[in-house]
Amino acid sequence: MNSRQEIKENIERIRAELDGRAQLLLATKTVPAELINYAADCGVTLIGENRVDELLSKYDAIDKTRLELHFIGHLQSNKVKYIIDKVSMIHSVDSLSLAKEIEKQAAKRGINMRVLIEINIAGEESKSGIAIEETESFLQSLLQFEHITVCGLMTIPPKTDRPEENLQFFQKIYQKFIDIRAKIVDNENWTILSAGMSGDYLQAAACGANLVRVGSAVFGARVYPQAQSNEK
Ligand SMILES: *Cc1c(COP(=O)(O)O)cnc(C)c1O
Repeated sequence: MNSRQEIKENIERIRAELDGRAQLLLATKTVPAELINYAADCGVTLIGENRVDELLSKYDAIDKTRLELHFIGHLQSNKVKYIIDKVSMIHSVDSLSLAKEIEKQAAKRGINMRVLIEINIAGEESKSGIAIEETESFLQSLLQFEHITVCGLMTIPPKTDRPEENLQFFQKIYQKFIDIRAKIVDNENWTILSAGMSGDYLQAAACGANLVRVGSAVFGARVYPQAQSNEK
């Protein structure tokens, strides 16, 4: 884990590199709440957690007056109820059954949940997300839900040491994003393309992603507790 000084410098450098092209979301898995709040001191306004248990354990200590919280990891339907009133967006909607549960829990509380459709852009077997060819039909099936607002697309491209290899995937998802924006009549909510992580956020932003999710490039290498060692 980096020092506070390093974290501050990384945030400032990345914001300068992005130069307003994309919003910076800090992926804060394994990062203690006090450091997350320190990131808020450095001007960060948006964070994402990707495990329900971890989100719940840190939730009270996170400064919600300054930080908006998104859920960015794979989400099991039976855990939706724990986070529905704690996050303002779910990036990882990849099945109708998950969407149904989000609708049910949001309706119960009389709230609306903003979501992104997760696309498995490289068709990797090990990854969740729907096939890019199925985006429109999946989107259509989500429009029936009164308490869900679909705001765009999210993807996690393959891990690579050569970020230029992922340019093709960022271009492909951007194309789908703008195709849908042109086709959907009521498109005022269709605004977010969430792609790009520590190794490739610049490539993603150059290809039109307007939200990048960055963790280790700010906080340093993650140290997972034993119990979480199975995390992807
Ligand atoms: C961890 C995580 C990130 C950030 O990963 P880094 O490579 O550390 O930047 C982004 N998106 C999701 C969904 C993550 O789980």
